[in-house]
Amino acid sequence: MKRLLIGISSLLGIFLLYSSWNWDSSPPTVRWLEAPSTVGIDTRIILELQDEGKGLQSIEVALVSGENRHIVVSETYEAPFSWQQGVTQRSITLSPGPSFEKGSVSEGTFWLEVRLRDQPNLWLWKHEFSERRSFDLDLTPPQLQTLSSQHYIRQGGSEAIIYRVSEDTVASGVQVGEHVFVGYPLPERGRGAYICLFALAHDQSPETTMVVWAQDGAGNRNEISFWKRAFPVRFRSRDIQLSDSLINAVVPEILAHQTDIAQGESVIESFLEINGPLRELNHRQIEELSHQSVGRLLWSGAFLQLSNSQVESAFADRRTYYYQGQKVDQQTHLGFDLASVAHGAVECANDGIVLFAGYLGIYGNTVIVDHGLGLLALYGHLSRIEVKEGQGITKGAILGRTGQTGLAAGDHLHFSMILQGVQVNPLEWWDERWLDQHILAKLPKDTFE
Ligand SMILES: [Zn+2]
Repeated sequence: MKRLLIGISSLLGIFLLYSSWNWDSSPPTVRWLEAPSTVGIDTRIILELQDEGKGLQSIEVALVSGENRHIVVSETYEAPFSWQQGVTQRSITLSPGPSFEKGSVSEGTFWLEVRLRDQPNLWLWKHEFSERRSFDLDLTPPQLQTLSSQHYIRQGGSEAIIYRVSEDTVASGVQVGEHVFVGYPLPERGRGAYICLFALAHDQSPETTMVVWAQDGAGNRNEISFWKRAFPVRFRSRDIQLSDSLINAVVPEILAHQTDIAQGESVIESFLEINGPLRELNHRQIEELSHQSVGRLLWSGAFLQLSNSQVESAFADRRTYYYQGQKVDQQTHLGFDLASVAHGAVECANDGIVLFAGYLGIYGNTVIVDHGLGLLALYGHLSRIEVKEGQGITKGAILGRTGQTGLAAGDHLHFSMILQGVQVNPLEWWDERWLDQHILAKLPKDTFE
């Protein structure tokens, strides 16, 4: 009997010792990884539920709105063997639209209530934890109203619109097909007024849908149409004969600067790699740069065309390339090729800030000037760059010398204008009358000092 008692008590002792060594002393916790105070229908709310010890036994997330309580997530987990850990972490992503039962919540305040239990020690002792957090559900899109009345735009051309948004707006602009243009505040036209310069790309149809859009912090979006007329433009087609001497003159120089492009087996293959994929890459780099544009007009009056220059190639020429009698490529030339004299001085077309000064693939030595509101001007194939990134520059100031760096057959200036990543026809920006009618007439007089 005594031996039996000693046996039982020592077994009990070992069991208690083991349990206390294995004791789960940490309560479960909740971390709100993403929980903005104002949410929309698609806003993500991310919670991470954790228990350091033996793991979670049950979790419950409930939506509390007024008198109602709806369970959104409810899970229980089986107890692990005493020497094991159970579910120690569970991450939950919720969005009001997909996650909440229809009609369970309406605009205004709601709470998310989290209740957690961890696996018990000795079947009895467990931790419970609960926490609630409030959210404001916003389902009302921002308000929009156009302030400018007429908008005429050509394929490859630009246009300006003035509109007003309600105070909750965090982003707005114009969308033309898949191209998104952002607007900039125009306080001179009053509270909530914005200006957006936008473009119809040379390869977009005049029937392309154009809307003014605005989005609030909760992700609600509003779109309105506006009065516009869009016109088609016939662009020129040109055939280009590629000679070995031309290819051999341009390919090695570009390859030396662009180690990231695939070198073809023959020099014509390398040329095609430069003419196609590298051209694409350079255009994406320019689009990236346009996001750094400042939110105000930096220029005044018409843009300058290079002095005494001859137009060698116009905007959006469709170029078909032939090599040894075979058609090898087709590209659109997005800019103007202007020739004056070899190593001629290149004047800046209008006031702005130098955004880029360096080698840019097919454009060789390049200067890109920011004119504000997403409008950039590019000067390519330069033999010399005479400005630095970040410096202010005025209309007519010399920024470099013409040359034939990059993909250039002879000494000339490649000039192009880019509106938020979309190449636009510089002819309009060179034309004082066009500027007056399309942009300046829509602005209050005191926009310019
Ligand atoms: Zn060119």
